[in-house]
Amino acid sequence: FNGSKSHIAHADAVASNDDHRIASSEQVPKKKKVVLLGTGWGGMSFLKSLNNPNYEVQVVSPRNFFVFTPLLPSVTCGKVEARSIVEPIRNIIRKKNVNISYSEAECVKIDPNNKKIYCRATIDSHSKGEEVFAVDYDYLIIAVGAQVNTFNTPGVMENCHFLKEIDDAQKIRKNVIDSFEKASLPNLSDEERKKILHFVVVGGGPTGVEFAAELHDFVNEDVVKLYPNVQELVKITLLEATDHILNMFDKRITNFAEQKFGRDGIDVKLGSMVTGINENEISTKVRGNGEKTSTPYGMVLWSTGIGPRPLIKEFMKQIGQGNRRALATDEWLRVEGFGNIYALGDCATVNQRKVMEDISEIFRKADKDNSGTLTVKEFQEIIDDICERYPQVELYLKNKQVRNMVDLLKEAKGDAAKESMELNIEEFKSALSEVDSQMKNLPATAQVANQQGAYLAKCFNRMEECEKNPEGPPRFRGTGRHRFHPFRYRHLGQFAPLGGEQTAAQLPGDWVSIGHSEQWLWYSVYASKQVSWRTRALVVSDWIRRFIFGRDTSG
Ligand code: FAD
Ligand code: MG
Ligand code: MG
Ligand code: MG
Ligand code: MG
Repeated sequence: FNGSKSHIAHADAVASNDDHRIASSEQVPKKKKVVLLGTGWGGMSFLKSLNNPNYEVQVVSPRNFFVFTPLLPSVTCGKVEARSIVEPIRNIIRKKNVNISYSEAECVKIDPNNKKIYCRATIDSHSKGEEVFAVDYDYLIIAVGAQVNTFNTPGVMENCHFLKEIDDAQKIRKNVIDSFEKASLPNLSDEERKKILHFVVVGGGPTGVEFAAELHDFVNEDVVKLYPNVQELVKITLLEATDHILNMFDKRITNFAEQKFGRDGIDVKLGSMVTGINENEISTKVRGNGEKTSTPYGMVLWSTGIGPRPLIKEFMKQIGQGNRRALATDEWLRVEGFGNIYALGDCATVNQRKVMEDISEIFRKADKDNSGTLTVKEFQEIIDDICERYPQVELYLKNKQVRNMVDLLKEAKGDAAKESMELNIEEFKSALSEVDSQMKNLPATAQVANQQGAYLAKCFNRMEECEKNPEGPPRFRGTGRHRFHPFRYRHLGQFAPLGGEQTAAQLPGDWVSIGHSEQWLWYSVYASKQVSWRTRALVVSDWIRRFIFGRDTSG
């Protein structure tokens, strides 16, 4: 991007000319301009929930469609068609009563001082070179997601497949089918066929595990019939650097998955770090004893996590967040230090406040009569605010199996404590000293991005109303100017499809169950979560088609 300074200067001139014209010819107050970057989970969810016609929204994204990412693994082996899980963004915005426009371009630079972003068109036929244009904003919403992380492992970019975008899934599908065709050609030795049919998955997270399971099902349900001569030569290897696959799930699910994969003949290698990949071989090192091996492969899927996009890295450097892995926001999703820039989803992380950081302030606010001690009654008046402001409190009470905060205080004060008890600041501190241990960063999931987008839209829907009559619960330190409730994540549970029409489900309250009925739950949840009736119908008919006719293996 460095080479395009003159483009930016030109874009600036055009933008300020525009401003001039509008300022002189327009009497009505201008609508506030919201610029939204990204049409993924975060962006789509914001657009779907926004209904305040007093904004003018400009969407900028290199992708003019939304992708239902949880079904990407299903596309890799033909269980679901690619077009069934995408929804054109223009279909979503045309149904809105809000003035929304879309530009197929990527943002290449954010200039918060001048409230401007610079964009470059990404349409293929747009071959005039690097044309950059500027867009002004009153509010900027950053929802650009993240990119794959190779951890600088040599050869990964050149030789591996990734599963992040719809193109990736289609490429993988074509490659899988091509592998079987290639291995079926005459004049190959068994060694060569084995190499072609050695599928390696790097990373035992939900995506890697689901792809391995999909591939195994594909081999057992369709390849046996269509390529019976090579079926015996297929090998699937799953490499995981830590001690277990599906780390973020309950132990029971991890164990079940490892055992099922063992029975299925998927070779799960735990504690196995990839050190490099060339055209023919993948090299690994065993974490414990440092033993090194190189194995011939036919195809590798790299699925080991995410890192920030260049745009976000650059922006973080600009605003003094240079050593972070995601943009830090407050709990209102505003980028730290900015009142008019919001960030959500995989590119961002919410800085949650600690109770212990604010403990003296909380005590002082609660101690209405300035007596230096808190009575139960004084305390009860602020409990709701504390619970709202510090979500970790509720988790802590639940884990400790304490009914409410008053009980917690009583417990800390000793069994004899009555309704008449009073606590001084030191006692108050020690009663709450462990509460912050429950704080966890929100995961980089569609569920989080989706809820954040809807939350932010709600804030924008109510913005003027709230500006006119500032309200809301009293706040603690540094939060007095906020008019909205902070963002609260509600975890609805997660699934891990394990193949053979079996799925592991971990629902709120750590309710774990695994089996065939969970697979049906999975089908119904994922059908209901579709963003439109069109994609819902397409996905469901793909599933039915697959049940009746098997997977489509043309490619
Ligand atoms: P994204 O959805 O990635 O959207 C980013 C958007 O920004 C895209 O439209 C992109 O084109 C655009 N963009 C990129 N760069 C720029 C730029 N410079 N300027 C403007 N726009 C830009 N989560 C779950 O909760 N459950 C699941 O089952 C699940 N399964 C998954 C399976 C797979 C294979 C993958 C890859 C992810 C899965 N996830 C799942 C995670 C989920 O997809 C992400 O957490 C979610 O997409 C994050 O939303 P986002 O809006 O932050 O980013
Ligand atoms: Mg998005
Ligand atoms: Mg998405
Ligand atoms: Mg995040
Ligand atoms: Mg008092």
